[in-house]
Amino acid sequence: TASPVMESQTTVTFSPTAGSHGDSVFSHVVRAPEDPILGEGKPLVLNVVRKAEQMLVNDRSRVKEYLPIVGLADFNKLSAKLIFGADSPAIRENRVTTVQCLSGTGSLRVGGEFLARHYHQRTIYIPQPTWGNHPKIFTLSGLSVKTYRYYDPATRGLNFRGLMEDLGSAPSGAIVLLHACAHNPTGVDPTLQQWEQIRQLMRSKALLPFFDSAYQGFASGNLDIDAQSIRMFVADGGECFVAQSYAKNMGLYGERVGALSVVCRTADVASRVESQLKLVTRPMFSNPPIHGASIVATILKDRNMYNEWTIELKAMADRIISMRKELFDALRARGTPGDWSHIIKQIGMFTFTGLNKEQVAFMTREYHIYMTSDGRISMAGLSSKTVPHLADAIHAAVTR
Ligand code: PMP
Repeated sequence: TASPVMESQTTVTFSPTAGSHGDSVFSHVVRAPEDPILGEGKPLVLNVVRKAEQMLVNDRSRVKEYLPIVGLADFNKLSAKLIFGADSPAIRENRVTTVQCLSGTGSLRVGGEFLARHYHQRTIYIPQPTWGNHPKIFTLSGLSVKTYRYYDPATRGLNFRGLMEDLGSAPSGAIVLLHACAHNPTGVDPTLQQWEQIRQLMRSKALLPFFDSAYQGFASGNLDIDAQSIRMFVADGGECFVAQSYAKNMGLYGERVGALSVVCRTADVASRVESQLKLVTRPMFSNPPIHGASIVATILKDRNMYNEWTIELKAMADRIISMRKELFDALRARGTPGDWSHIIKQIGMFTFTGLNKEQVAFMTREYHIYMTSDGRISMAGLSSKTVPHLADAIHAAVTR
């Protein structure tokens, strides 16, 4: 006998040529441009992650039940500790609510949507330039997106004066997106003194900080140092949003594991905020996935595994720093015109080379080197073997 599925298939009127003759109800849909970055390199799986996964597999008591709407409790608690510090008064006073979301992107989106629903000022300022997904995420969250100056092409460093002027003239209460460390795409971060000035200015104008922490551990190789900007804002007792991602620092890209934390002034407010965050996530994805969060929690709660992770993380960060040095030396050896010291000064995974669109296109065409059209190179994708080829390409592009 035919299955119900087969039966229903035979009763559907179906024209196999619809679509191909242009009479589909979707024939007006235009092809969207391809995302230029997704699907780049092949990141390694950390040993400590493999070990955690093995432990999870061997644990027969584990089931595939849904997580609660807010996600895995251990994961949330440990994620807050990781970003705010083990001795954070905000955590001790229960003023932090943390919900597990779909990596950094999902955490930004949930935070954005909460703010659009419950915060009086719906304008968010994002740095110019910033990660290309930021304006889209926040616009679709229901916020209105404006930019503040961040990068100075002349010095290939921070435009601190422009940043302070723009935040200084932002309307009181506006939300400000800050990259916690290893700014993408520029690799340029404020110094601690500059962070302190930014904090004072923002608090004096009641600007609301929304930190994007996608690279904790990747800037300095140390998890606590890379969280210092955030901890400064939390230490003053004021409100703060943080979107955390484990894509890079645990190499869990495809597991989509991250968290949104909201630091409030009182425990009572924090619990009410959490109740509303659930109303944001429930119709969006119901509840978050269990596997990635279990890997993270397994590593974060075991002292030995945690230590092993920090060693692997530091090795990744150090390797990037040594790639910077090798690339810089290779350009100097070739006598490539220009000051390339920004390659060693910039922080994190990316180098914002300063190469223009035409030079980038030339390098792709002639040397098969792929980077974003704004001249951003992923240092994580480089090795000692490929540095000379890249240096040749840059040399040819700028001397052409
Ligand atoms: N913020 C920044 C600045 C990023 O560079 C990225 C990843 N490229 C993300 C957030 C989010 O990444 P994911 O959603 O994979 O955690």
